[in-house]
Amino acid sequence: MVEIEELQSMVKRFRDERNWDRYHTPKDLSLSVSIEASELVELFQWKDDSLSSVNIERLREEMADVMIYLLALSNTADIDLGKAVKDKLEKNEEKYPAGEEHFE
Ligand SMILES: [Mg+2]
Repeated sequence: MVEIEELQSMVKRFRDERNWDRYHTPKDLSLSVSIEASELVELFQWKDDSLSSVNIERLREEMADVMIYLLALSNTADIDLGKAVKDKLEKNEEKYPAGEEHFE
């Protein structure tokens, strides 16, 4: 398993080695997350709900694209994404306690 901090560093190194820092604005990285998420849902468009209807390798790649842009945005915004996810999960646990019915 790869640590999220290592991934964040790898994405930063990839950016810096190409001098792409100037393109990695919060706006464009946010747009890129959304665009890649659209590419992900496109894999399911007009298909049934099952995983068997999609190309798993394409799914894997689009999931990675979303994550890469999130990590890039984390670098630009100087946010520890791992900590942000952990904090949000804790918030969700308070909002949706285990053992209770949340969907009617
Ligand atoms: Mg893509």
